[in-house]
Amino acid sequence: MKQIILLLAMIAFATGSTFAHGNEQHVMGTVTAMTSDSITVRTQAKEPVTVYTMPDTRYEKSGAAASMKDLKLGERVVIHAAKMNDKLMATHVRFGATARASHQPSAF
Ligand SMILES: [Zn+2]
Repeated sequence: MKQIILLLAMIAFATGSTFAHGNEQHVMGTVTAMTSDSITVRTQAKEPVTVYTMPDTRYEKSGAAASMKDLKLGERVVIHAAKMNDKLMATHVRFGATARASHQPSAF
């Protein structure tokens, strides 16, 4: 019984606004706030999700290397993040024309 509840919880989580492949989660939505070390995204579920950036976070705008300075409020973004402790840490931040969670197309 406990395992079934756990499984249902995992399914509910996986079909939510963030979903995992392996250790990773994707956060997709619109940038609503930024600090020097975090990006807050409003997802399709209208929930704000804050993802923390790291010195080795990579940024990609329309398929080209970019930086956090290129990201603007209101922009659509796809953040690939790893969960560490209770925080989501960004590994890749994609925005611009080709923003999509496509590094593993078979997952979609
Ligand atoms: Zn990913």
